[in-house]
Amino acid sequence: MNSDQPLRVLVVLAHPDDPEFYCGGTVARWVSEGREVTYCLLTRGDKGDDDVETDPEQLAQKRMAEQREAAKVLGVTEVIFLDHPDGYLTPDLTLRRDVVRVIRQVRPEIIVTCDPTNFFPSDRYINHSDHRAAGQATLDAVFPAAGSGLYFPELLQEEGLHPHKVEQVYVAGAQHPNTIVNVTKFFDRKLSALKEHASQIPNIEALEKNLRERMLDTDSPPDAPRYIERFMRIDLRR
Ligand SMILES: [Zn+2]
Repeated sequence: MNSDQPLRVLVVLAHPDDPEFYCGGTVARWVSEGREVTYCLLTRGDKGDDDVETDPEQLAQKRMAEQREAAKVLGVTEVIFLDHPDGYLTPDLTLRRDVVRVIRQVRPEIIVTCDPTNFFPSDRYINHSDHRAAGQATLDAVFPAAGSGLYFPELLQEEGLHPHKVEQVYVAGAQHPNTIVNVTKFFDRKLSALKEHASQIPNIEALEKNLRERMLDTDSPPDAPRYIERFMRIDLRR
């Protein structure tokens, strides 16, 4: 890796299991290249079950434990949970300030989040409102708030957190990706990390089949399939 390449990565997404689904292969690859990856999950996933008998607090504890194990599989340095209520995430100033605080603490060169404009990732799925809210709050936090001393000055005055400018943003689940990351060598690692989210994945074989279809680079030869993750990459240094 070139010495001028960014080293610190902060992944900001809504729920436990989102990082592995959206960018697990890329995270594994970056860690193998010497980058330091931190996760920030905006909720603890306390509504990740449809059963009215489920205790949300017990579910949250289980999902945080699953997330920490999955992060360990990928070599992620730290997992931060912000504990906004699952399902009700709103891209308001409170959430924006919370993300700015974490950006100013972690001081990453790269942020990964998801596309707030993507309502319909496929014709079988409506994108979760939390995913859209997480993407919007994070992009709004990156620019201009995290890098400007005039935004949330109390973070400096009360918590000593200086402004920080992020260099690149990788938007996962993007409607219009402009960047692919080859994660062929890290496909199995991503799948192993996803297996840690047992409460969310009833059938790992079906998931593997689905991922092999979705992540396949259709330009690769059939006897040597290449697996990729796609992003809209924004370079704020230019
Ligand atoms: Zn999610």
